[in-house]
Amino acid sequence: MQLKDYVTNVPDFPKEGIQFKDITPLIADGQALRYAVKKLSNYARDKEVDLVVGPDARGFIFGTPIAVELGVGFIPVRKPGKLPRETYTESFNLEYDQASLSLHKDDIKAGQRVLIVDDLLATGGTIEATIRLVEKAGGNVVGIAFLIELAALKGKNKISNYPVFSLLTY
Ligand code: AMP
Repeated sequence: MQLKDYVTNVPDFPKEGIQFKDITPLIADGQALRYAVKKLSNYARDKEVDLVVGPDARGFIFGTPIAVELGVGFIPVRKPGKLPRETYTESFNLEYDQASLSLHKDDIKAGQRVLIVDDLLATGGTIEATIRLVEKAGGNVVGIAFLIELAALKGKNKISNYPVFSLLTY
């Protein structure tokens, strides 16, 4: 399965200079989607994961089926104002934006082993904020899995203390 055939590069979206990786053709194809979910799940199979955490919104697309594959629950990290109960919130810089993310304070129990999943690692701001939220809540990040890593942006340097797996690298 040549997964890169299902990722479209869109130049200058949403801003000039950004090479946007459009994953919608990949998730629209049943076989490509299943292949990606299996590969990402296999990475985490021996990690004794208790929970999968994924950031808004494309982290939900891959995080939830991976949680199903692993037989564990999924916890969403969301844009502020979306979660109804008490939250932790972290702010950060994106490749082309600024943002905040929130996590329900009681969604993770102290010491739980967490796999973080997102579609794409760019500058690493999103994933750093997600790690901070998981750790504030008492979780233990045992792995981080991405569908895509944009290596030139060096986001991996920000998370060098954690085991990281990227299915596709550009
Ligand atoms: P970052 O925080 O810079 O690592 O950005 C990661 C998040 O922004 C991911 O959740 C992606 O969904 C989105 N993103 C950033 N850059 C791109 C890109 N070039 N193409 C597609 N999505 C991107």
